[in-house]
Amino acid sequence: MILVFLGPPGSGKGTQAKMLAEKLKIPHISLGDILREEVRQGSDIGKRAREFMDAGKLVPDELTIELTRKRISDPDCMSGCIIDGFPRSAVQAEAFDNMLDEMKLELGKVIYFKVDKEQVVERLSGRRSCKNCGAVFHVKYKRPKVENKCDLCGGELYQRKDDEEKAIRTRFEVYAEQTKPLIERYQKQNKLAAIDAGGSIESVFSRLLSVVGYGRN
Ligand code: AMP
Repeated sequence: MILVFLGPPGSGKGTQAKMLAEKLKIPHISLGDILREEVRQGSDIGKRAREFMDAGKLVPDELTIELTRKRISDPDCMSGCIIDGFPRSAVQAEAFDNMLDEMKLELGKVIYFKVDKEQVVERLSGRRSCKNCGAVFHVKYKRPKVENKCDLCGGELYQRKDDEEKAIRTRFEVYAEQTKPLIERYQKQNKLAAIDAGGSIESVFSRLLSVVGYGRN
């Protein structure tokens, strides 16, 4: 089953996608993670993407469309995957429909993470990421065992440039203008399932499990 996670920055899509992917044993495809890895490696794609990402803007559609097409063609995606952070614009959504058609794949559900802006700003400004493996922590809600060190690999934690206040503002604007309109598109296609993404990581996860048919009773 192909699942798409849609929601404003800081709505917890990435955290929840990782947890669900582990439970369902399917890959978690995060376009943000893929792009950050390209930047880290200093590839041509990374060099093109970097300034857009640091400013909180969308990188050019042709980059994310090709990266997604390539990744979902990998054999480990044959029994499904969770795509987090794509599509994020009407052009990407159109290209996504076409690529699924070509590959004879069907979109299962688009999960829309609904959360109010205040919570999201707190989540983003307290977020810390591992420089080495990309694991995500939070100064209040998901503290690392040792301050500023990643629990998984011991790497140094840092604040993403796009989690600084100015970029957060831009990311919200971009989300409202370009990504939010996709909600209507998927509603019309009967694919949309909205969940309340406020509250603790565990409470959101249990709502998510219900929506994808693995509810805990
Ligand atoms: P994320 O980790 O999902 O918050 O993404 C971080 C940044 O990567 C975004 O602010 C964009 O600059 C870029 N990005 C991720 N996904 C996309 C996408 N589908 N289209 C364009 N840019 C993206």
